[in-house]
Amino acid sequence: MPEFNPAKIVEEIKRLFNDKGNAMYAGEPVTQTEHALQAAYSAEHAGESPELIVAALLHDIGHLLHKHDENCATQGIDDLHETIGAQWLIQYFQQEVTEPIRLHVDAKRYRCATDKQYHSQLSPASVLSLQLQGGPFDQREVELFENNRWAESALRLRSWDEAAKIPDYETPELEYFLTYVQSVLKQQAL
Ligand code: FE
Repeated sequence: MPEFNPAKIVEEIKRLFNDKGNAMYAGEPVTQTEHALQAAYSAEHAGESPELIVAALLHDIGHLLHKHDENCATQGIDDLHETIGAQWLIQYFQQEVTEPIRLHVDAKRYRCATDKQYHSQLSPASVLSLQLQGGPFDQREVELFENNRWAESALRLRSWDEAAKIPDYETPELEYFLTYVQSVLKQQAL
């Protein structure tokens, strides 16, 4: 079990964004960091809990952790970033943060199965990754997803994720959202 030191964990997250966050978010006109900040900003704007704001900020941290190159989807590789991210975060964060992240790809597969409009609005990069991620859910998978207690949060996270692709959109800086990370971690330490 790694040492639970909120300040150190925040530093580690900051280092990941500083080292790899300037890479483009594959196939989209924003960097990984811009994407994360825009998603977190939408969650904050929606009046969500600090845990879900943190989930929005860190939902793609798996992209900063894995060793595939950014465009691996074009080579037919599913990077499993939602699993990699959630597994890493579970060392430090509670399910309120980690489960919506683990389910944010499932949320896409669910919406594609249940909302025809939605599929047609996906970006080309998202359509490509959807195929590698298993495509739209079948009926049984839809039911299983609906019974998951984190499904609602994951669907909301998904909508901020999809909106977070606007070039040059102004948001608060990473430091600002890291205060949410710090406060969620401190809360857990109590
Ligand atoms: Fe994303």
